[in-house]
Amino acid sequence: MNKAYKYSVYPSKEQQVLLGKTFGCTRFIWNKMLGDKINFYGEFKKTLKNTPARYKTEFPWLKEVDSLALANVQLQLGTAYSNFFRDPKIGFPKFKSKRFSKNSYTTNNQNGSIRVLDSSRIKIPILGSLRIKLHRQIPDNHQIKSATISLESTGKYYIAILTEYENNTTPIVLANVVGLDFSMKELYVDSDGNEGNYPRFYRNAQKKLAKEQRILSKRNKGSGRSLKQKRRVAKLHAHVANQRKDYLHKQSTVITKQYDAVVIESLNMRSMSQTMNFGKSVMDNGWGMFVNMLDYKLKEQGKALVTIDKWFPSTKLCSNCGCKKSEITLKERVYICEHCGIILDRDLNAATNIKNVGRAMLGLDIETSTTKVLTKKNRRIDGDSARMLGRKRPSNAKLPLQAVRLSGE
Ligand SMILES: [Zn+2]
Repeated sequence: MNKAYKYSVYPSKEQQVLLGKTFGCTRFIWNKMLGDKINFYGEFKKTLKNTPARYKTEFPWLKEVDSLALANVQLQLGTAYSNFFRDPKIGFPKFKSKRFSKNSYTTNNQNGSIRVLDSSRIKIPILGSLRIKLHRQIPDNHQIKSATISLESTGKYYIAILTEYENNTTPIVLANVVGLDFSMKELYVDSDGNEGNYPRFYRNAQKKLAKEQRILSKRNKGSGRSLKQKRRVAKLHAHVANQRKDYLHKQSTVITKQYDAVVIESLNMRSMSQTMNFGKSVMDNGWGMFVNMLDYKLKEQGKALVTIDKWFPSTKLCSNCGCKKSEITLKERVYICEHCGIILDRDLNAATNIKNVGRAMLGLDIETSTTKVLTKKNRRIDGDSARMLGRKRPSNAKLPLQAVRLSGE
């Protein structure tokens, strides 16, 4: 298994110069190799197999930087290229610009060329000993595979260390299963009626961000004040991203502790945000990152993440009797089954369906919404409250969603 660790690093003045050169060289070689590939394809209708080495005679300054950094560009470009030919929707690899592309490069560990020296230093090829804030130890059974050094637009340097390790945990008996239904607003609703309670950092910070961006647009490009403002905007972005990551870590840890298996639907976020016009909020709430975290955290404990097909009609099926509605609109927040008479919160119904498909895939028996929820809380809600479920709950309400039956049933 692989795991990545990210740390802040503090390069010296000389190291910063060398890093700047390396970022520049990786960008240059990417653009050069991509350009040549395009020209070659235009002429011969074949993919050019070029390597960084062949450019070193013409551009000798390429020899000054870590050759593994350049070799990794070749690999990345190869992947981007073949991804495009496999699925053109992914888009053709783009040229990298100094202004808009990320400053980063990746190098590999060869016989300890990347290793932690002590609590504040790490050894990196060519760069030498680099000061690091090691807020978290890399476990002894983890082997360092590679390191990616980056300079963010906030002006801070980071290192992401990719490790590989043997997962020796034996699989446990999976009994306690939960289904998660993706939710635009709350990240997810689970089959026990809990919500992710997604804190909308981005929304809250957005006003502030918009204001700072307006100020930035008024400043003269390239001026000292403009640069300072640009950093301020970048810092605000980075802050929001960090908060979100923290939240996703906490939430995935809680779920992993509580359950043996988690069932989710595979979603294509990009196409979803495009077709449904949700744009920002889908990308914003970090579902993909959340799923990755769940996956490795569950695996580490011998537990499982079960992914079910995205075309499974989780919202249309009745989780109690299994009959299927022909249509349920986004506006309908309550699932009312005309067949068995159950009324459920829409998302809870979907999450229960997701859980049950997962249970079936794991060879476990199916639990219906009624047995699950009514035995758990044993609370019945009258018709008025049931209708209330369709309305917006107060934002601070953390009550679990309830399953209810039509009165007289
Ligand atoms: Zn039903």
